[in-house]
Amino acid sequence: MNYISTRDLKQQVTAAQAIARGISAEGGLFVPEIIPTLTDEDFANLCKMNYPQRASFVLGKFLGDFTAEEVDYCTKGAYVGTFDEDKPAPLHTLCDGTEILELWHGPTCAFKDLALQILPFLLTTSAKKVNGGKKTVILVATSGDTGKAALEGFKDVPGTEIMVFYPSDGVSAMQKLQMDTQVGENVCVYAIKGNFDDAQSGVKKIFTDPDVAKKLEENNMLFSSANSINWGRLAPQIVYYVSAYCDLLNRGEKLDNGFNVAVPTGNFGNILAAYYAKKMGVPVGKLICASNANKVLTDFLATGVYDRNRSFFTTISPSMDILISSNLERMLFELSDRDASKTVEWQNALKNNGSYKVDAEVKAKLDDLFYGGYCDDAKTKETIKTVFDKFGYLCDTHTAVAVNVAEEYKEKTGDTRPMVIASTASPYKFANSVLSALGKNASDDEFDAVEQLKAVSGTVAPTPLAELKGKKPRFNNLCEADQMEQVVLEYLKIK
Ligand SMILES: *Cc1c(COP(=O)(O)O)cnc(C)c1O
Repeated sequence: MNYISTRDLKQQVTAAQAIARGISAEGGLFVPEIIPTLTDEDFANLCKMNYPQRASFVLGKFLGDFTAEEVDYCTKGAYVGTFDEDKPAPLHTLCDGTEILELWHGPTCAFKDLALQILPFLLTTSAKKVNGGKKTVILVATSGDTGKAALEGFKDVPGTEIMVFYPSDGVSAMQKLQMDTQVGENVCVYAIKGNFDDAQSGVKKIFTDPDVAKKLEENNMLFSSANSINWGRLAPQIVYYVSAYCDLLNRGEKLDNGFNVAVPTGNFGNILAAYYAKKMGVPVGKLICASNANKVLTDFLATGVYDRNRSFFTTISPSMDILISSNLERMLFELSDRDASKTVEWQNALKNNGSYKVDAEVKAKLDDLFYGGYCDDAKTKETIKTVFDKFGYLCDTHTAVAVNVAEEYKEKTGDTRPMVIASTASPYKFANSVLSALGKNASDDEFDAVEQLKAVSGTVAPTPLAELKGKKPRFNNLCEADQMEQVVLEYLKIK
């Protein structure tokens, strides 16, 4: 099982190389040469397994140059003793035919934990194989949740340093506190003056700057990425769709016509994982791509034109406030039958003009696979309230976007197949927004909001969030987007 780059088919690397590097030298993203498939017998076996075992089975298919022991070491390290009740991805039945796939029972209360608890294991195992003792430097651009999840995953991991950049005005108070209070001897956190796309572009630029690479090389260091451009982030996300299917089968659900999946989408990593799960043989029907007011993907799926030249909105679902969805590159590579030159053409047009148009064949495939929809903050809040009033279930702002778009899809199409909705964060992570959605007064103090939310909903706040109360921030760094390279070199003391 080798990996190729979306921008140059001749770039062939092993799984360990793909994960250790994060991104291909010419800027492309690594994808498996072939997508492995699961047989009925495989699924029957998977149904009998617990989550870490399922993860070993699925990831083993992608990690060609890992031994079975190494794969098990990674999955056990990531998924045993780290998630509530050792259930990383439980299903909650909202109502007949609608399941909520709760992906926020990990240490940072967002779905990013599913991948970022295992990535440090995958990365250090890979680095041992291919980097010959070099220190791995992780740079992360975050819209809020990735940063904290990556910090938790990588804190004090030997042989690594991690730096996180978040948009100073683009994360929730709780997300900011989570990151600024991070412990660990190998961590550094910066707010940047700019939005998520500025942070992401800044990180990409540093990664691909040959002068910076040379400086690292001279100091026995190497960059890697914990963003979902890294295949080591994506592969673990495929597992929870396989696992959800097994859980449904175990319950005796009738899935002859498959089930639809609705995903609150930003960088297109989570929904891409659902697509790969489908390719592997999970009977996923429609992939429902749900956006907030930053609806660049909704428009793209409707027209075939990706156009980031538009106003950027700061919303109550900040982890989806994104105008450049990096992982769409992998999707378009697949749908153009792995045409690297087309991929390069589109990505260059995006870089140079901020837009591109896919051809008719790719558009037709997109139409077949996806439904795109969006909802604004008002609709998001309305959905939180309706879901709570009707079903007694409290969902966060991101999940609510997906619930709303899933409903819209059902109404528009009459498609009655079961729906699995990816729930990407705990409502307590966005306590103020959720409170105001329920018609209560928001509070200036995040922990007042948590207390109020507990009282109103009768639910329990996750321990990792409750424990933040009274913690003093450790980091208070702010820089311009164009200073990112400088602060990285300073932190690494290789200026
Ligand atoms: C990251 C994130 C998303 C978006 O996921 P992508 O894989 O980037 O599309 C949605 N919701 C929450 C809570 C997130 O943290």
